[in-house]
Amino acid sequence: MTETLLDIRNISKNFGALTASNNVSLDLKAGEIHALIGPNGAGKSTLIKQIDGSLAPDSGSVWFEGRDITSLDTVARARTGLARTFQISSLAMDMTVLQNVVLGALGRRGNVFRFFKNVMKDDELLGIGHHALQQVGLDEFASFRTAELSHGQRRQLEVAVALTRAPKVFLMDEPMAGLGAEGSHRLTGFLDTLRKEAPILLVEHDMDAVFALADRISVLVYGEIIATGTASEIRSDPLVRTAYLGEEDAA
Ligand code: ADP
Ligand code: MG
Repeated sequence: MTETLLDIRNISKNFGALTASNNVSLDLKAGEIHALIGPNGAGKSTLIKQIDGSLAPDSGSVWFEGRDITSLDTVARARTGLARTFQISSLAMDMTVLQNVVLGALGRRGNVFRFFKNVMKDDELLGIGHHALQQVGLDEFASFRTAELSHGQRRQLEVAVALTRAPKVFLMDEPMAGLGAEGSHRLTGFLDTLRKEAPILLVEHDMDAVFALADRISVLVYGEIIATGTASEIRSDPLVRTAYLGEEDAA
């Protein structure tokens, strides 16, 4: 049996009268990409926030590697190996690509109270940084200013920063957003190789990417999971077609 790494059990969350998560259960197994799709406002980002710890559920629990982590904050969850990526704002644009990953590696070590000029001479940190850049194919850009990278490359750099912390799971909320067709295509290929490092819970609107990548797809509508299955099961599910995919076809 494939190991379940992340297990979301019966999560509910209300904002006033609005039910953003309605008894949601979902899991992520070793080696897989599990895509979470659904219309705007369905509650996808709200669910991701309850998994990364930035939002507390009203009820239900989040389990990681067999342990209840519902009471842990974002920092503690990140330390257990949950990596939320693609928050571009977390990159320092004026720093070099290498400096960004070395800072990430420093975060893993925990002692942040050092002078940065010494940090950039630390062979162990530099080694971790270069290795992460090689993993995402950005090592030749190590000395570039981060602001010089394309949008797609910055997303790869975000992943490299996450990799310096040896993540066990990736959480991604719309990584293709803002990328053109070519950028999305390239990032799709990249995520396909990234699954070897750690499984990915992927929220994404780009259906070409979702159907190309996902081992399983869950469909969220009005805070509720209406179906979970393989790409072909989801494509042919009448309820999904009415509630979501049919609507995309019509657009
Ligand atoms: P999605 O990511 O699927 O587009 P969201 O999770 O962002 O959806 O939002 C789900 C619903 O919850 C939306 O109706 C949104 O307006 C509402 N919502 C999200 N965050 C908050 C909040 N902090 N306070 C009140 N309502 C919120
Ligand atoms: Mg969202």
